[in-house]
Amino acid sequence: MADEPRISETRAVGRYALGVAWFDGHDSILTHASLRGHCPCDACMALRERDELPGGGKATLESLERIGDASVFLRWTDGHETFYLVSELRALCRCAYCIGEPERPITGG
Ligand SMILES: [Zn+2]
Ligand SMILES: [Zn+2]
Repeated sequence: MADEPRISETRAVGRYALGVAWFDGHDSILTHASLRGHCPCDACMALRERDELPGGGKATLESLERIGDASVFLRWTDGHETFYLVSELRALCRCAYCIGEPERPITGG
């Protein structure tokens, strides 16, 4: 892909979510539970294979560090660490636009 997504800035959204503003003007709200739940590391992948939720569904993000333009490093309050490609982060966005159903409300409810 020629146009890799790039992060403009990140911010905390309440206590349980991360807001990401993108260079293309898009804005994502990613919950900590979702970020941890999709952690691509081997340990979390093994948990998912056993149908267990990484972080127990209540992981809290302690810090986020951007590494260049292409990746981010997340540190969790339980000591776990997650490394995401920025493109993977963008793929976690579940807004109506990203899931391709713009006529439906985001929460479906
Ligand atoms: Zn992990
Ligand atoms: Zn989106």
